[in-house]
Parts: sequence; structure tokens; C-alpha cells
Amino acid sequence: MSSATLGGTALSGGATLAVEDPSTGATIGHVPRGGAHDVDLAVAAARACAPTLRAAASVERGRRLRALAGALDAAGDELARLETLDTGKPLSLARGEVAGCVAYLDYYAGAADKLHGETIPIGPGSLAYTVREPVGVTAHIVPWNAPLSMLCRSVAPALAAGNAAVVKPAEQTPLTARRFAELVEAVGYPAGTVGVVTGLGAEAGAALAAHPGIGSLTFTGSVATGRAVLRAAAEHVTPVVTELGGKSPQIVFADADLDDVARQVVTGFTANSGQYCDAGSRLLVDRAVHDELVALVAARAGALTLGPGIDDPDLGPLVSAEHHRRVAGYVALGRREGATVVGEPAAVPEAGHFLAPTVFTGVTPAMRIAQEEIFGPVLAVTPFDDEDQAVALANGTDYGLGVGIHTRDVDRALRVADRVDAGYVMVNEYFGGSVAVPFGGTKLSGTGRERGLVALDSYLRTKTVVARVGRRGGT
Ligand code: NAD
Repeated sequence: MSSATLGGTALSGGATLAVEDPSTGATIGHVPRGGAHDVDLAVAAARACAPTLRAAASVERGRRLRALAGALDAAGDELARLETLDTGKPLSLARGEVAGCVAYLDYYAGAADKLHGETIPIGPGSLAYTVREPVGVTAHIVPWNAPLSMLCRSVAPALAAGNAAVVKPAEQTPLTARRFAELVEAVGYPAGTVGVVTGLGAEAGAALAAHPGIGSLTFTGSVATGRAVLRAAAEHVTPVVTELGGKSPQIVFADADLDDVARQVVTGFTANSGQYCDAGSRLLVDRAVHDELVALVAARAGALTLGPGIDDPDLGPLVSAEHHRRVAGYVALGRREGATVVGEPAAVPEAGHFLAPTVFTGVTPAMRIAQEEIFGPVLAVTPFDDEDQAVALANGTDYGLGVGIHTRDVDRALRVADRVDAGYVMVNEYFGGSVAVPFGGTKLSGTGRERGLVALDSYLRTKTVVARVGRRGGT
């Protein structure tokens, strides 16, 4: 696999990075190893497009974005297969994520001609109004766990707002971003509207975060890199959206439907092999139903099928050998910390970076497996005795992304939703929601919000105009 131009941006040098299929460990291609010079070229190409994009009638902006949604939809099967090969995720999951991408583009296409300011009555003789302008070029640094989905989540509102964009995909999973850039051009956007620079985080990513030519930066990834990106962006006072990690709990009260909850808990911590930022990686359960629920969860987790994503099993592999070592290290750590593994492990294929789902009971808040993001199919179970303790446990990590609440008592659900320190609360449906509802975190899980209309604010800036008007007299 080779390509000299990506989204209208020539990549220099000739150095490449291997792309691996994590289901087999085999190299399936190579992509250019872009660096600072390539980022300069991509930003320059995007800046050249920015005036045209800004000048486009807003209704036309919406039409073009809707055409892009149509192009992604038409290429859906190809994109899903590419994503599966690159990430290892089950094909049906990749299909669902591509459908989600189409939904992002459609949703923000509908918003493109509704981005208006306001008039503010500040007194006679004055006209005060605001306009919402595109920031010019938006930068997007994307992780490997849901590559196309994370790209579309932020690039769709950026385009709707009238910007050009430069994207740095994760080095492990660059393939769908490249195809996305081709589709952008194919539907008639000016060349360079979405530039994709493949490469390493420390090279292309760092250069993009520090670039003086970008008007905003959206970073989705780990806390450690998020901090580095914030520092780099501070140099040019670039506004940054950070969507970082999580240690999201599912809180289960004794009155919940335990069969249904067991299904949701297992999906919550194993979907995408646990590699979702909002994975429900902690189970906080009323002691009265602890043993019953743990048995149901362990039985379901042990029955999951693992295999190459293209065969559409329940679970694919982890993304890389390095990440497998990291997650397996946490499983060993949990045993050393004194937690207990329950249930029989699911069968694991020999080739590829597979890891069986692991359920730990007897997890105390002081354990690292209760506090740190593992980003693999590992569940930490802790019992509670009352609502106050459940809330304290839920709030007792440095993260604040998702919280699941399972109960038939609506008052209790809404009371607990009010008390948890997190950006996204799901009652009786883990992973519930849509592109139309804001998503993001508190504490170390990040700043800013994506999805929903509020996300558009990150790609627009408000200009205020105050005019003295209505002067009497004159000639
Ligand atoms: P990562 O931080 O290692 O990498 C993310 C991106 O940053 C990659 O493109 C990488 O190349 C780039 N990068 C690395 N070093 C850089 C640097 N110095 N400067 C600029 N860019 C750099 O994260 P990951 O391992 O790819 O992704 C997993 C993490 O992402 C998890 O913590 C997960 O929770 C988080 N995540 C969060 C959300 C959310 O919405 N909150 C969504 C998905 C993933």
C-alpha cells in the first residue's frame, strides 16, 4: 500500500510505517510516516481552502456534508472491512460505527444553516449583534480504538461550521482516515479541505498540536498525551477539546432486573474488547445481589466467542502486542493486589493479540485495578451497602466520564444521576444515547463536549459587533 497524496496533501520523505492486522499479527500494508514538514503542508493546504469554505452559503455547506454522509453510506461495507482489518474489531461492530459516522455527518449537515448569532438590546442608539465565524483550520488528533468514528465525531461539526481540517490518525490504525479524505474530495470539497497526515504521535501529532496555523484542536486519547497536547497548544493559545480516558462504573441496585443488567454489564466491559473510553469497567453492586449478579456476569463473559474481527465473533483481539502486554499486566496486578478472578475464561485463539474477558471480585477502592484505566476486557467488582456508599465509590477515581445506573426506582436513579461527578449518565441502558446528545467528561476525563449542538461551539468563534446607529440630523 502506498500513497503520495492524502486528502490533497503531499507527504514527503518516503519513510513508512507498517500497518498490522491485530487478529493475526500480519503486516497488511504501509503508510507514510509523516512529520513536521507534512503537517506544515497539510495546514497550508487547509488554510488555502478556508476562505472558500467560509464564504460558501450555509445551505450549500449542509448539502455538501449530506453528500459526504451519502458517500460514506455507499462505501459503508468497504469502510467497515477496512476498520475491522486495521483494529481487529468484529465486523458488525465496525458496521455499527460506520453507521454512526453517517449519522454524525447527517446530523451536522442539518445544523450547518442554523448557526446564527443574536442581537442584544443594549440601549437606544446602539446596535449590538454577534456572528459565529469558523475558526479557519481545525486540527484533530485521533485514537486507535474507534478511528473513523472518533474522526467523524469532531470533523463533521468542524465542516458544518465552515472550517477546513487536518487529521492525525493513530499510528496503529491509519487506514479509514485516508479513505475518508478521498471521499471528501470525491464529493466536491476543494482539495486540502480535510488533510490526513499519517505518522507517529511524537512526530506528526506533536507538530500538529504545536502548529501556529490551526484555530482549534480536538484531541481524543490518553490523559498523558492530552497533557502534552495541552502544553503544546498553550504556546499559541490554541483552544483545545480533550476527550480522555475513563474508569466508568455501572451502579446496580438490588431492585434491578438482574438478567438484563448482567447482559449490559458484560457488553459494557467487553464491547470492542474493552477498548472504549466509556467502557463500564467497574461494577458497583448492592451487596444483597452481589453473588447472584456476579455469577450471571461471569457465565455470560465466559461464553463469549473470540476470533478475528472479519469472522464477526463477539470479541476481537486487542489492538497491538504492546497493548496486550499492558492489559495482561493489569490482570496479573489484580491477582497480586488480592482480587479474585471468577468464572471460567473464554477460549482464546493462538495467533493475534487476544485476551479473555476477566472478572475480578473483592476489589477495594485502594487497588490500582479499581483506579486506573486498563482499556481491555477487565471488570472490577466492588459491593456497596447503601446509596451514599455507591455514590462515594462511583466518584472515587480521578476520572469522570460515564456512569451507568440500574434500578427500577426512578427517584433513586435521578437522585444518583444528580450526585455523580461525571459527564455522561446512563440509566438502565449502558451505552445509550445518540449523536444528538452531548458527550464528554469531568476531572481527568477531559474538557469540552462532543456530539449534540453544543459541540459546534468548539469549531466557531463569536464575533461581537457594536454600532452607534440612528443619529439624528445629518445632511
Ligand atoms: P494516545 O494518547 O496514545 O494516542 C492518541 C493520539 O495521540 C494518537 O493519534 C497518537 O499518535 C497521538 N499522540 C501521541 N503522542 C502525541 C504527542 N506527543 N503529541 C500529539 N499527539 C500525540 O491514546 P490511544 O492509546 O490511541 O487511545 C486510547 C485512549 O483514548 C484511552 O485513554 C481512551 O480512554 C481514550 N479515548 C477517549 C475517548 C473520549 O471520547 N473520551 C474516546 C476514545 C478514546
